[in-house]
Amino acid sequence: MAEVLSASPEEIYFTGCGTEADNWALVGAVEAGRGRGRHIITSSVEHHAVLHTCRHLERRGFRVTYLPVNGEGVVSVEELRRALRRDTVLVSIMAANNEVGSIQPIAQLAQAAHDRGALFHTDAVQAFGHIPLSVEELNVDLLSASGHKFGGPKGVGFLYIREGVPLESFLHGGGQERGRRAGTENVAEIVGMGEAARLSAARMEERAVYVGQLRNYLIRQLRREVPLCRLNGSRENRLPGNASFCFAFVEGRSLVLQLDADGICASGGSACTSGSGQSSHVLLAMGLPPELASGSLRLTLGEENTRAQIDRVAERIAVHVEELRNQSPAYQEFRQGRGPRGILRYFPGNS
Ligand code: PLP
Repeated sequence: MAEVLSASPEEIYFTGCGTEADNWALVGAVEAGRGRGRHIITSSVEHHAVLHTCRHLERRGFRVTYLPVNGEGVVSVEELRRALRRDTVLVSIMAANNEVGSIQPIAQLAQAAHDRGALFHTDAVQAFGHIPLSVEELNVDLLSASGHKFGGPKGVGFLYIREGVPLESFLHGGGQERGRRAGTENVAEIVGMGEAARLSAARMEERAVYVGQLRNYLIRQLRREVPLCRLNGSRENRLPGNASFCFAFVEGRSLVLQLDADGICASGGSACTSGSGQSSHVLLAMGLPPELASGSLRLTLGEENTRAQIDRVAERIAVHVEELRNQSPAYQEFRQGRGPRGILRYFPGNS
């Protein structure tokens, strides 16, 4: 893990998952920084591992600023500079988003935080092993990752803590992890995560090129075959394997079920909240109306996937979207020119 990040092994601390690493980074940093202030800055598109920890800290008297994002899900460095205060202890912005794959300008954001004396944490759970990350180049103080996102086992993660960064312990007990994270280490999973890190780093570029081309092919096919299909986020500035779409007049959850019956694994937005029935907070923050945000579908590609599979996925999605729309009274009204036409502005080039 240290090698992949250009860190030193003493700066890597093993945790039970990415969620624990995020919780530890936030709670540990603000507790250690109480002397400086009680203000935290994060973004409105973070994973709930960060957002819910912020809510918890708000209940304990900390103040949190949630930065907005642009239509492609990206935080503005200028906006961060304006939000930073003398009492800001920590800025936490994810490296890449889990729903729409947008990649944040981490090095510039970290610089802005450091210019005002705040620490910078990045949740790199989606990015580690998929895009190059060097803690030297990014200049982050804290970075979280999770084994199962890069081919390792589930239930293990780690937190990078830059040498000298003050951080309160989160788990108290024995002296494991140099006295900073108590609890017997899960050696088998840690070894598995290490091997996965080695493998993912060894062929990262080659894999990213292949998977990125496949993803672009999927985007082209879907746009060609399905009317009123929107790609969420930017085409270029995204994780290689991430493709997120919204289909007007379709419930994402229904589409996921139909695809599941075809043996195609997809998720309606974030996999972690796909059972909750709520519209994605990420898509809403990117400015999509709730009726469109509820029609989202996320497909994640890997190097095992092929063009033939993409053709089948596009064909099945086209069939199901048409079936679902035919059952939708709102779509019938729209087709007859009676429904709201405003929705068209979210589908440039479509009719
Ligand atoms: N952060 C991000 C961006 C994620 O995508 C996830 C999981 O999907 C997590 C944190 C939580 O990681 P874990 O499931 O290992 O607790």
